[in-house]
Amino acid sequence: MSRTSGSRRLFRVGRSKTGLGLFAAKLIRRGSFIVYYTGRKLPNRIADELDNKYLFEINNRWTMDGSPRRNVARYVNHSCRPNAETDVKKHKIIISAIRTIHPGDEITYNYGRNYFNAFIKEKGCKCAACHHKRAVLRSASKGRKGRKRRKGRKGGKR
Ligand SMILES: [Zn+2]
Repeated sequence: MSRTSGSRRLFRVGRSKTGLGLFAAKLIRRGSFIVYYTGRKLPNRIADELDNKYLFEINNRWTMDGSPRRNVARYVNHSCRPNAETDVKKHKIIISAIRTIHPGDEITYNYGRNYFNAFIKEKGCKCAACHHKRAVLRSASKGRKGRKRRKGRKGGKR
C-alpha cells in the first residue's frame, strides 16, 4: 500500500452518544499508542481550585489541565468496558489500545472511580457497557419481580 495517505490521522472527532467522541479512522492494534493527553501541567493544589472536567491527575503533585482544544485526547469518552487505557510516563499521559480497535469504533478509556463518582454516577453512565447492562436488567425485571441488583463497582485504574 502506498503511504500517500500517510498523513491521515489514526482517529477523528465525531458525534457520540454523550456529545463528541474520538473515533478510530484506521485499525488500531492492541497495545499500540494512540495519542498523548496534553495540556497545562499544574500543581495539584492549583488544579483543585479549578472547576473543569478535563483535569487528569499525573501523580500526587501534578495534574494536567487538558481543556485546551488542541488536546484531542479530551474527546475520548469514558467507558466501563473500554478499548484503551492511560498510562503516565515521565509526566506524559499516554493513551494506548488494550483491544483491537476497528475503524469507526469509538475510542474509550475508564476515567477511574473518583471521576465516575464525581461526574458520571448521578446522571447515570452512558457508556455502551452500561447501556447494555440496563437493557438486560430492564428485560430481566419484567420477568422476575422484586429481585434487586446492585450496581457493580468499577475499579478504575489511575
Ligand atoms: Zn459505564
